[in-house]
Amino acid sequence: METYKRLGVEFVKGEGVYLYDREGRRYLDFISGIGVVSLGHCNRVLVEALTEQAKRLWHTSNLYENSLQEELARRLSEKFWTKAKVFFTNSGTESVECAIKLTRKFFYEIGEKRYRILAFKNSFHGRTFGSLSATGQEKFKRGFRPTLKGFDFAPFNDKDAFKRKIKRETAGILLEVVQGEGGVIPAREEFLKEVERVCKEEGLLLIVDEVQTGVGRTGKFFAYEHFNLKPDIVTLAKGLGGGFPVGACLAREEVAKAFKISDHGSTFGGNFLACKVALKVVEEVEKILKEVSEVGEYLKERLRPYGKVRGLGLMVGLELREDCSKVVERLLREGVLVNCTAKRVLRFLPPLIVKREHVDEMIKVLDRVLRGG
Ligand SMILES: *Cc1c(COP(=O)(O)O)cnc(C)c1O
Repeated sequence: METYKRLGVEFVKGEGVYLYDREGRRYLDFISGIGVVSLGHCNRVLVEALTEQAKRLWHTSNLYENSLQEELARRLSEKFWTKAKVFFTNSGTESVECAIKLTRKFFYEIGEKRYRILAFKNSFHGRTFGSLSATGQEKFKRGFRPTLKGFDFAPFNDKDAFKRKIKRETAGILLEVVQGEGGVIPAREEFLKEVERVCKEEGLLLIVDEVQTGVGRTGKFFAYEHFNLKPDIVTLAKGLGGGFPVGACLAREEVAKAFKISDHGSTFGGNFLACKVALKVVEEVEKILKEVSEVGEYLKERLRPYGKVRGLGLMVGLELREDCSKVVERLLREGVLVNCTAKRVLRFLPPLIVKREHVDEMIKVLDRVLRGG
């Protein structure tokens, strides 16, 4: 179905930060499949893990034990600020669905009539009906109404306005630490701290959607760590499988307990292939977090001459004065891949293994394109 306006190129091979098209032309990848190919294309360690597992066992379903899934859950829990339990999904939107359902079930279990989720304007949480209903952008909802009941929206980064949107039935507050699809907009510290404080005071769950920001993208394993938040629920996906589809919804134990046998499920979620690869991704990402921050800072510094620069780690936006879709096309022709969000924001989400020299290589092309040389 024609849901995507595609750029007219197909890549047939990938290697680290580079992609190759049919004619053998090389492209420098600064979007990594929208923040997915976190360790670069065809990373040797991941290829080995995947092929080894592919020869052993792919899928048995969640009817049976799966020690790889347990191991991955344990690893993710160790990264979380407190002990967590994990539900595995196949995508970001499913992770958010899980978070929404768990929030409702948590209050059902404790006998409180709370079900509303307070989310933020300009947010993006996915395309299925729950996460679409939580998304604060009209363009994603047009033509699909009615969306689900029970979602409210407040202006992002306003540390007072959200309080007026809290109702008696509000169960949780859902946010991105850096709004990704909304144009790479980092949350302000005082805003996050106030949201967390109010959640605590009012007994609301703090749900952080880390589908884009998680698994090292911002230089910390979870982006919430930059602000020492203590979320109740966190969603992951994009970078978690390094290109293999896998997502996760983590919740602190007391919250996770609200899901009882058969309350939620997934046929594919957490299969052997996904867990094997994700385990390796988590292991490898741990080793390079410092470099992610360093190269991220360098990238921002190099982008500054061209416009307003925002972001954390290797999640960076460059706001241009013009619509950036033409710039993306010109960069593609010159062998550099980035994308355009929120009309005027060039988004950079390179593989986390990117080096300064790749940044220099990209800037050389960007300079030519933006200065029209
Ligand atoms: C991409 C994204 C999603 C949706 O992920 P899918 O895998 O496309 O369903 C949800 N939340 C955030 C913050 C995202 O960036």
